[in-house]
Amino acid sequence: MKFPAEPFRIKVVEPIAMTSENERRRLIEQAGYNIFLLPAASIIIDLLTDSGTSAMSDNQWAGMMLGDESYAGSKNYYHFEDTVRDIFGFKNVIPTHQGRVAENLLFSTILKEGDVVPNNIHFDTTRANVEYHKAIALDCVVDEAMDPDSMLPFKGNMDLRKLQKAIDEYGPERIPMIMLTITNNSGGGQPVSMENIRAVSALARKYHIPFFFDACRFAENCYFIKEREEGYRDKSVKEIARELFSYGDGCTMSAKKDGLVNIGGFLAMNDDTLAQEITNMLILIEGFRTYGGLAGRDLEAIARGLKEVLDEDYLRFRVKQTQYLGEMLIDRGIPIIKPVGGHAVYIDAKHFLPHIPQSEFPGQALVVELYQRAGIRTVEIGSLMFGHKNPETEQDEFPELELVRLAIPRRVYTSMHMQYVADSLGAIYQDRQKIKGYKIVYQPKFLRHFTVRLEPLSRNI
Ligand SMILES: *Cc1c(COP(=O)(O)O)cnc(C)c1O
Repeated sequence: MKFPAEPFRIKVVEPIAMTSENERRRLIEQAGYNIFLLPAASIIIDLLTDSGTSAMSDNQWAGMMLGDESYAGSKNYYHFEDTVRDIFGFKNVIPTHQGRVAENLLFSTILKEGDVVPNNIHFDTTRANVEYHKAIALDCVVDEAMDPDSMLPFKGNMDLRKLQKAIDEYGPERIPMIMLTITNNSGGGQPVSMENIRAVSALARKYHIPFFFDACRFAENCYFIKEREEGYRDKSVKEIARELFSYGDGCTMSAKKDGLVNIGGFLAMNDDTLAQEITNMLILIEGFRTYGGLAGRDLEAIARGLKEVLDEDYLRFRVKQTQYLGEMLIDRGIPIIKPVGGHAVYIDAKHFLPHIPQSEFPGQALVVELYQRAGIRTVEIGSLMFGHKNPETEQDEFPELELVRLAIPRRVYTSMHMQYVADSLGAIYQDRQKIKGYKIVYQPKFLRHFTVRLEPLSRNI
């Protein structure tokens, strides 16, 4: 079979309100053509993000009823700690309410002004947390990661020459840690190979630099290793995860991804002194070390989610569902980034709408069209998100890639929903010439895509 059937059946349903196209045209106009300002209840299929949008299992919901809400030493904390230690192998486990707080705690404890943190590609919040401490967030991913047609199996790999160059140039004393994001979210959810992880680890150890993983999608990465890397076919995903983390000194984690929960995260590390210092900070900003900004029931749901995410029938379905959507789009002639990563499909909007220049936001034009016509919410990652005026030349500058991301929530949508997405995009692709660009009528000073307001350049048909 090309695509495995959903390895779950549905016990509880959440009805989807079927809005009409006219209603959606009115709502998006009111929202200034910004999909972040839409009411979620007006959306038929929401592919805005895979973060915090997972469906929990009956086992996780049952665990929520066993929440021990003691301030200190909740039994759910011990279950959570044992589970994280068992999979990740790190000695100290510090709960947080999101991944970015784990980053904030780690960086505010070990970064100094002028330090450098190499990573394959820093995720937005990671970069922001590094730069907030006046340190340099240095991306060292392999060049192929930027080529939408390169079919490398591990396009998330660190370029070891770039990493060595950074160590030589800045000196190991200015590099308080090396990070690796698995899978590489900002590079399209592309995996990193075990071979590459081993090599990064060897380099880090040679210079006595701590090595941390940004582990948000670790299970998806491990599944890709099992499928694609020599010598791992007969190992379980859990064995692969344990080997992978054995090469590092710690990790940051957003449980909103491969924790299969709606809120939560953690920081884990072997270094006791560092953990003690971070725990003191945790108490200041999140809470006591046995809950870290979460309820006991949330910790129970994470512990159970981390076990479930290693289920290989689930992971096969997860990765194949994403690939299946990608293949359906390719069959309809739609340009996408290849190969398809773990959690999302990315449409190349520059080639989808070649008649709209980047100054008129072709990615956003496609996002709006897809919402108006089919009630599908996606997100632009291109000229609207990253475009800016160069302060010296006064010229507008746009990113190389103009993408529309279709992120797939875990265990939420069926293959028929994916078919609906592909058919809707196929129909839009047929009459793409009619789609017009947009202009900005309001924008804030930074992170403009969240609150920007737009107007169509002429009426869309
Ligand atoms: C989501 C994400 C984060 C931040 O996690 P939050 O829980 O959203 O704060 C960090 N790194 C990567 C790779 C992510 O995908």
